[in-house]
Amino acid sequence: MGLLDGKCAVVTGASRGIGQAVCVSLAQNGADIVGLDIDFEALEGTKEAVEAEGKRFLSLKADVSCLEEFQGAIKEASSEFSSIDILVNNAGITRDNLLIRMSSEDWQKVIDINLTGVFNGVKAVSRAMMKQRSGSIINISSVVGLLGNPGQINYSASKAGVLGITKSAAREMAKRGVRVNAIAPGYISTRMTDELSEGARKALMDNIPIARLGEPEDVANTVFFLASDLSSYMTGQVLSVDGGMAM
Ligand code: NAP
Repeated sequence: MGLLDGKCAVVTGASRGIGQAVCVSLAQNGADIVGLDIDFEALEGTKEAVEAEGKRFLSLKADVSCLEEFQGAIKEASSEFSSIDILVNNAGITRDNLLIRMSSEDWQKVIDINLTGVFNGVKAVSRAMMKQRSGSIINISSVVGLLGNPGQINYSASKAGVLGITKSAAREMAKRGVRVNAIAPGYISTRMTDELSEGARKALMDNIPIARLGEPEDVANTVFFLASDLSSYMTGQVLSVDGGMAM
């Protein structure tokens, strides 16, 4: 028996990194999974991993920055599964540069995917979740949304904005049984952080009390906690999974 038996979870950016680990963790705890990604073929590895846990996996192609695509994906998911119980807004990108060199295009692209993408996701599932009087939405923010970071004005603004969406949506939907929480990961070992130079990586370690990068599973375990009834009295919260960076 898993704590998420009979539940269905939608996870965005599900093809790799944190999103893939989240899909596997939620499946291990009993949930069926709908994986959304901008690249449909890339979802194949996650599908195999979830099915190996004996759970169903539906692959859907959607760009989270487009409301119509997100709503279309949720409609398709709802016709396959009896309800959508969990939404994990995980898809995100970086386009780093110092402010003086950052183009408006790189500013807008990051806002469109990381911030508007979360708005679109919350909007796409909220009506049905409120109607069924239950649901857990988990938004993946970042330590950079709490602390700021040189070279990441677009990214840190988008991730700070995600905290605003989380708290406002939590207040709007609490009485209807829908909980909305956020996770602020620190530096997690994925393709996003593979791009760091050796120098940047060393400088980072000096700022991580636990003195290692996190693993995608560290974030996935926290997503499971927030998705399940173990956290039934929590809403509008931001949990840091960052080796102590933001304490
Ligand atoms: P990742 O390995 O780069 O994976 C991101 C996923 O999002 C990929 O599957 C990607 O698909 C998908 N994606 C990108 N744009 C999309 C769009 N418009 N619509 C749908 N899917 C899209 O990243 P990660 O490191 O796992 O990060 C996951 C989340 O955690 C992000 O929100 C990130 O900001 C956040 N985070 C990460 C870290 C870290 O250290 N890694 C720290 C704090 C927060 P494709 O592969 O097809 O591009």
